Amino acid sequence: MTLKPPPLKNDCFALPAGTHWTPVDEALETLRARLRPVTGVETVVLAEALDRILATDVVAARSNPPQPNSAVDGYAMRHADIIEGPQSLPLVDGRAAAGQPFLGDLPEGYVIRILTGATLPDMVDTVILQEDVTTNGQSIAFHGPLKKGANARKAGEDVAAGDVILPAGRRLTPADLALLAATGLGQVAVRQPLRVAIVSTGDELAEPGQAARTDQIYDANRPMLIAMCQRLGFHPVDMGRAPDDRDHLRTFLDGAVAQADLILTSGGASAGDEDHMAAILNETGSMTLWRMAIKPGRPLALGLWDGTPVFGLPGNPVAAMVCTLIFARPAMGLMAGEGWHTPLRLTVPAAFSKFKKPGRREYLRARLRDGHAEVFQSEGSGRISGLSWAEGLVELPDGELNITDGTPVTFLPYAGFGL
Ligand code: AMP
Ligand code: MG
Repeated sequence: MTLKPPPLKNDCFALPAGTHWTPVDEALETLRARLRPVTGVETVVLAEALDRILATDVVAARSNPPQPNSAVDGYAMRHADIIEGPQSLPLVDGRAAAGQPFLGDLPEGYVIRILTGATLPDMVDTVILQEDVTTNGQSIAFHGPLKKGANARKAGEDVAAGDVILPAGRRLTPADLALLAATGLGQVAVRQPLRVAIVSTGDELAEPGQAARTDQIYDANRPMLIAMCQRLGFHPVDMGRAPDDRDHLRTFLDGAVAQADLILTSGGASAGDEDHMAAILNETGSMTLWRMAIKPGRPLALGLWDGTPVFGLPGNPVAAMVCTLIFARPAMGLMAGEGWHTPLRLTVPAAFSKFKKPGRREYLRARLRDGHAEVFQSEGSGRISGLSWAEGLVELPDGELNITDGTPVTFLPYAGFGL
């Protein structure tokens, strides 16, 4: 035998000597410090504002409620007219209903029939529930005392005109739309959506739904990454599949730069012979191959193509999704104008056992059942079925950890990233 396998080195189980594996937190700090919002501003009506990012702080145009009104169906009065104990007060002719205010003053010593949401007449400050009175249609009888302001909503008790109700960077929710509407706003200044170009690379890739040679695999990353961008409120630009060829890749990146604010590529991002994405980014002089201390994932090729940031994700779909959630998602959010997004982290007991080695942060495909985190039975990074099975990720810290049933672990629901 002339050709011998290389001998095992002393440090073969350690992280490669002399290589700096970038901890996840350090990589995130770098992204946060280097990136800036790049999107323009436009004004949209509320019907188009869901999931859009506010470009400025929003100030209430009007108080909510605008005038004092009744919280219940009952009878309204001046608190000064009420005594302690049993009493009866005459009913004024007329009533106050929502949208049909009682015009005029309530005479002293009188009560008025009032319905929920009706504006309180001047000087009227207290409402008694209809269930707490008897009436003959001429007057009402009830027991005092009543608390001043009972069952009445004060003008502006929710929001006062001029209050900042929502901050710049906020991604608008259905409840936010209610708040905007209630405070007199019919349109808002929002960021134009961040345009994200998505490119898959690899000679082995075939188009989903079309015929494929037996040695080909279907491009799973592109539909996933496009859908992730949609869910996260970014605007995906589908650039298709690029072959493992540097000239073609350059053409794809040139095309992407013209149409997008950021480029997500998957595949070819490591340091092997066929890792052409890393190679051409390297030629620009702007590339850093981030050797992340992360599993799954490791290499992430970050660079600029004609000034546009490129995230060269690993080709492996599991690693591509994890790296997108952990690194690209907050970076895209920052560029989109929503500030730095941190995912929701829940501490829950583990429903699994695992000894985690020190050295890199690990993400396991996981889901919550009965308040416990279950993990997918295989950690194989080619297992796309586990991505689909999972409803989030368990994040294991950089250091060593021995997990047994019930050990508290950190669960990051997909929903908490905005998916
Ligand atoms: P690479 O990062 O190009 O070395 O690819 C790593 C692994 O992921 C290989 O097994 C590829 O075939 C696979 N892969 C790369 N791109 C995709 C894709 N778009 N969809 C599914 N698998 C992919
Ligand atoms: Mg490849």
